[in-house]
Amino acid sequence: MDIAAPLRLRVDRDALRSNWQALDRWSGAAACGAAVKANGYGLGASLVAETLAGAGCRDFFVANWAEALALAPLGLTVSVLHGLRAEDVATARAGVARPVLNSPEQVARWRESGGGPCDVMVDTGINRLGVSVEAVRDGLLDGLEIETLLSHLACADEDVPMNARQRSAFASLKGHSSARRMSLANSAGIGLGADYHFDLTRPGLALYGGIPRPDMAGHLRQVGFPEAQILQRRRVPAGETVGYNATWTAPADTEVAILNLGYADGYRRALSGLGAAMADGKTLPVLGRVSMDLLAIDVTARPDLAEGDWLAMDYDLAAASVASGVSQYELLTGLGQRFARG
Ligand SMILES: *Cc1c(COP(=O)(O)O)cnc(C)c1O
Repeated sequence: MDIAAPLRLRVDRDALRSNWQALDRWSGAAACGAAVKANGYGLGASLVAETLAGAGCRDFFVANWAEALALAPLGLTVSVLHGLRAEDVATARAGVARPVLNSPEQVARWRESGGGPCDVMVDTGINRLGVSVEAVRDGLLDGLEIETLLSHLACADEDVPMNARQRSAFASLKGHSSARRMSLANSAGIGLGADYHFDLTRPGLALYGGIPRPDMAGHLRQVGFPEAQILQRRRVPAGETVGYNATWTAPADTEVAILNLGYADGYRRALSGLGAAMADGKTLPVLGRVSMDLLAIDVTARPDLAEGDWLAMDYDLAAASVASGVSQYELLTGLGQRFARG
């Protein structure tokens, strides 16, 4: 039996395509790929990857092999950022995706398993994943069949000297490996300018409408629109309170709707008293605490709304992030399993 979805996450494919095209233009002569890890940043990896492939995107990045397997039916070129654990060798050998080798151990594991096309991550200062610049200079990668040599910026969303240091460390490796291409920039890195683009860029957040640097706003559109349904309407008399810990007191009789959305769905508790639903351009503020599965909104501006009606939440990532103190990345990737995506 089919049960109607309790929640919807509407994905604006036009906006997604338009964001990729903007990032592709920004990337200049470099190709523009897409980070689709974490289920396409919460929006649905297959839906996102298929849409971007249709727009012309040719290089996709996931975190692990389960994510690569989920995309396998699409037949795309996928790289696995976490590389090759012993447990991953069989899947990698099956040709599901290319590993991004991150350590001398992973390089050895790939060689021993038979080698073949791979990517390699070089650490230029973030001290997260990657082999060292010195190891590459000393020949660690000699003989490997490298498609893309990658590095990752620690502070691309800030204007700090570390960006240029990482860039020049990476650039110094030109010609020190067999890599066909070099790739450094994430979303924010694209905004740092042509020096940072190399041959391939790897945006994630900005594809999905996040604003990685203030100077990139204006060309990026919202892609994910969480929608929730009214479970109950009530009139809260002046002086009564709404929700856990009674943090909101009605200043006057107030028309209230209870929505089937809460922090277990990724609608963060930090948006208590700050978030809103939208209806025909009217803002309907969240009242009091966000609960695990429910929240209350003020529908005084739209008293016609009734049980069963669907409402879009205000989910402008940059604004919600500033208001709540929760990063745009977390606001997106936290959107939970109860949403029907599409
Ligand atoms: C997640 C990730 C990206 C994309 O980063 P955004 O900041 O979302 O654009 C690019 N490269 C690597 C290695 C990543 O892990």
